[in-house]
Amino acid sequence: MVLQKRQLVKNWKVNKEMKYQECISVSLVSSLTISCKATFSASVDEIFLPLTNESDGEKDQMFIRRRLYTMEYDKIMEDLICMGCKLCGIPMSTEGRNVFGQSSVSLYCQKSSSRVHTLCLIYRKFMLYVWDESECIPLVVTNKSAEILFGNITAEQVYRCYRDDKVQSSNRRNSDDGTSTQTKASAGEEASDGTPLAQEENQQLNNIKQGERTDFYKIWVILLKMLLRHESNSPLKFTVNINSELSQENGRFELIGMTMPCI
Ligand SMILES: [Zn+2]
Repeated sequence: MVLQKRQLVKNWKVNKEMKYQECISVSLVSSLTISCKATFSASVDEIFLPLTNESDGEKDQMFIRRRLYTMEYDKIMEDLICMGCKLCGIPMSTEGRNVFGQSSVSLYCQKSSSRVHTLCLIYRKFMLYVWDESECIPLVVTNKSAEILFGNITAEQVYRCYRDDKVQSSNRRNSDDGTSTQTKASAGEEASDGTPLAQEENQQLNNIKQGERTDFYKIWVILLKMLLRHESNSPLKFTVNINSELSQENGRFELIGMTMPCI
């Protein structure tokens, strides 16, 4: 009997240990030509949300920082959060707003051993522009790394608090309309029309401090504003995976970690 040597066929992938580079500037990260892991310090410049429906009105909406300061932040959550796979971060949206040239949803999950997507609300993939004196580069941020960026607050938590807020406001309005009509309506108009943004934010913080409930939506909005405040922030320490086969615009640098340096 002749034993035939057969090569075993593996049905799993072996994770290769990636080289690790500690870079002292953004331009050094940018000049790396091999696929590896890198850490560096940089400041946040802008969040860019690529949308495929590029009507004139939507081009400006891609830049999240600009929208924060034009009082349109109530719509930001609806654009940043969608239904998708929490493992691979692919959106399951049917609104034609898939990012990075994805025209259709992949049937199989690249990050699951069963190849089945795990659906829930996720942060849509976006670009985080970071910079130092030497250069500015875009980092691709998927659902898991977005959670790290937003203080471990998940997209589900943000959306549920936002939705509960809307339902409560709607219930309050209906109840006011039902009891006494004109007096209550005019009092409500005075309160909302005359409230400046700063007072509104303070009120939000007070409500959170008083422990009424943890409002993840409002905490998330505050975190987003703080992250995109240029003048007063110290540089953050980022860890990225570099895929040397991709261009910067197509995801060469993928964010996998972020820490705040100790002062
Ligand atoms: Zn998946």
